[in-house]
Amino acid sequence: MGAVRAWVVSEPGPIDSRPLRVVERADPEPGPGEVRVRVRACGVCRTDLHLAEGDLPPHRSATVPGHEIVGTVDARGAEAARFDLGDRIGIAWLRATCGRCRWCRSGRENLCPAARFTGWDADGGYAEHAVVPEAYAYRLPPALDDVHAAPLLCAGIVGYRALRRAELPPGGRLGIYGFGASAHVAAQVAIAQGAAVHVLTRSAPARELALSLGAASAGPADAGPPEPLDAAVLFAPAGELVPVAMRALDQGGTLAVAGIHLTDVPRLDYARELFREKQLRSVTANTRADGDEFLQLAAALRIRPTVDPRPPRRGRPRARRPRRRPDHRRCGAGRLRGRAA
Ligand SMILES: [Zn+2]
Ligand SMILES: [Zn+2]
Repeated sequence: MGAVRAWVVSEPGPIDSRPLRVVERADPEPGPGEVRVRVRACGVCRTDLHLAEGDLPPHRSATVPGHEIVGTVDARGAEAARFDLGDRIGIAWLRATCGRCRWCRSGRENLCPAARFTGWDADGGYAEHAVVPEAYAYRLPPALDDVHAAPLLCAGIVGYRALRRAELPPGGRLGIYGFGASAHVAAQVAIAQGAAVHVLTRSAPARELALSLGAASAGPADAGPPEPLDAAVLFAPAGELVPVAMRALDQGGTLAVAGIHLTDVPRLDYARELFREKQLRSVTANTRADGDEFLQLAAALRIRPTVDPRPPRRGRPRARRPRRRPDHRRCGAGRLRGRAA
């Protein structure tokens, strides 16, 4: 059994204190039904930073973070037959569910109370090798290259589920509040499908990016969109934007809140912000079906996340960050300890 290099969370703390440490470890062996990949690229999700900084309590010690993994299968455990050696696959946040609870049996495995997650309950992708139950891996369309596929595996999939939860009608008017990693992918999907997308964010560079991607308008949230919205997604972790977005909805419209952490929501004005069948919903991670559907769609629609590739370096994780600070922290089922990132 050989050794591999991996970056582990040694002592959770501020990023400046370098909570990740490079270690040499025994090469992980895939168990029954599992495959091992040689990691080609791994994205940095906000949740990885929360784990490194200790905002998300660790589930085990010295865990390797990283759950936007692209790799090639280089070993298969007993009974693993879904992939061939050399196949390129993706590993994402969700890595196990019970398959028996009422949520699993009704197509909502994202709500499974026994779900387990990559980089939290098991080692993730800031390493030379990573292991995953093959049933939870994704086939990656050839049109997606390694570096651009990686961020789609969490930021992309979760943004896509949020979009679906917002029930945007074909050719509809969509509002996007906050414009980080997840949002800029969801916006591209909606625009490619013919929606008029209005981006509401206080960040001027983010507004510029939104317009360059084809958004119909971009402005600060308090100014409101130039037309009523059929649907909206709140990506910013700012509860005070809930009434703002609810007011911007047309009657019958839906707001999906995409974060797992949100500051307190102020009191809603029933007449202006909820009556006439407006709906307010949350989004919790994703199912495998969401992931498969999104990855196919991303290839067909030529979705291109903005990336900033970095080579692996000693003492630093192999990492790529979105150019702007990633705003999504919604992949976890757990709650962050009270701090808006
Ligand atoms: Zn994530
Ligand atoms: Zn279950």
